[in-house]
Amino acid sequence: MAAQSSDNVAQSAFVCQLCDLKKVESKCEDCDIFLCSPCKVKIHPRIKSSEKHRIRSVKDIWKSQYHDNEPWYHGKMKREEAETLLQKHNNMGNGTFLVRESDLKSGRFVLGFLVDGEPKHIQINKMDDLGKFKYYSTITGRETIFDNLNEAVRWLNTQTIHGIPIKLTKPVPKEIS
Ligand SMILES: [Zn+2]
Ligand SMILES: [Zn+2]
Repeated sequence: MAAQSSDNVAQSAFVCQLCDLKKVESKCEDCDIFLCSPCKVKIHPRIKSSEKHRIRSVKDIWKSQYHDNEPWYHGKMKREEAETLLQKHNNMGNGTFLVRESDLKSGRFVLGFLVDGEPKHIQINKMDDLGKFKYYSTITGRETIFDNLNEAVRWLNTQTIHGIPIKLTKPVPKEIS
């Protein structure tokens, strides 16, 4: 039986929180955890009264959701601030990440993540597509567009930058002031 460490509770929407598999398919709203398909079928039913739990597909959740409440979204922030914050959490290792909105231009978002202690930045732009917002990263520009920031970040997690695979692990914790 998978034991849940306190690390897992600092939820990342990018790995199954029961087995660390990268392919997250659903979320149990009652357990408040993200699940891969095998765990949904094999592990989750072992949780007490789990038959009453509400499980939703992540696609549905992310379609309907704004990014403001995402554990990785830090709001408007300067580049230097993001770098300081990332380096402060260097002990969390490679792939520690956050997404911020640029302080210079609203509607411009930046994914920041650590590679060997160095902060890297990838820009994600918001555009208006017939009254609906869409997002695209500067890696492929408007060739690859997404309905929300969540999908854009998930896609970036499968890409490479200057030959280095982007591997996002845990979000930088939000500082509670
Ligand atoms: Zn799993
Ligand atoms: Zn559950």
